[in-house]
Amino acid sequence: MARPEPRTLTLNSRTRLTPNMVRLRLGGPGMAGFPAGFAGGYVKLRLGEGGEGVKPVVRTYTIREQHADGIDLDFAVHGSDSEMPGPAVNWALNAHIGDTILVGGPGPAKPLPPGMDRYLVAGDMTALPAISVNLEALDPGARGAAVIEIQHADDRQDLAVPDGFAVHWLVNPHPGSDPELLLRKLRELGWEEGETYGWVAAEFAAMKALRDYLRTERGLGRDRLYASSYWKQGEDEDSHRVSKRADADA
Ligand SMILES: Cc1cc2nc3c(=O)[nH]c(=O)nc-3n(C[C@H](O)[C@H](O)[C@H](O)COP(=O)(O)OP(=O)(O)OC[C@H]3O[C@@H](n4cnc5c(N)ncnc54)[C@H](O)[C@@H]3O)c2cc1C
Repeated sequence: MARPEPRTLTLNSRTRLTPNMVRLRLGGPGMAGFPAGFAGGYVKLRLGEGGEGVKPVVRTYTIREQHADGIDLDFAVHGSDSEMPGPAVNWALNAHIGDTILVGGPGPAKPLPPGMDRYLVAGDMTALPAISVNLEALDPGARGAAVIEIQHADDRQDLAVPDGFAVHWLVNPHPGSDPELLLRKLRELGWEEGETYGWVAAEFAAMKALRDYLRTERGLGRDRLYASSYWKQGEDEDSHRVSKRADADA
């Protein structure tokens, strides 16, 4: 099936959720015909035009909430200290209300399948929007834990989780500097008998460490594990995509 044409959406509002997380609401007439039910799915933001032999600059973001007239995207702010922010964060921080942007997608969410005995969820701030959507959708009786890496203690968010679910926040001011941080905590939580489902999305090296543990050491097969890298330290989204493809092929 042909990919739908990207739509033009308007920046309607900007909210600083926590020190390192900014929420943008995109909406306007371009929302006409936007398919329902894509919270947790993703869109592709076009941040620069392509040209002769040059691809457009595209960045991927999760739909944190979907409304009749708009979508909310939460941007983890990076690059404020040593390096420059990428084009996505730059746009998130500096675009004016009323500016427009071309938006491709939406693509499907990766939810937690119901009926498992235990859920183990791990991710950094780029995955927090998807994790929030997934945890909100859990049955009230669901059990498990989420380990979430944030840049500052104040980046914690109030997540709606069932009583039998624990959320552990791990602070690392330098994202990408400690690929084993999430894994160490997950190991510490231990393993239980029964059907476990693992959901992991983070920086490339962190995702690989978590995936090795859950797949190789704990034996979770494809039907019990979602593992995806959302970005790669030192690489922009385009070169990250190349590493991701090589990893998938391997
Ligand atoms: C399916 C999917 C859903 C995603 N959803 C979200 C989301 O909802 N919110 C969100 O914030 N991100 C999300 N991401 C991650 C986001 O697309 C990347 O972080 C992207 O690289 C940011 O683009 P940029 O233009 O700011 O930086 P780029 O130009 O891609 O990169 C510039 C530099 O910044 C570094 N960098 C990129 N991201 C980070 C980061 N998070 N922390 C530290 N350094 C970084 C790169 O390594 C590179 O050195 C998602 C990714 C995928 C694949």
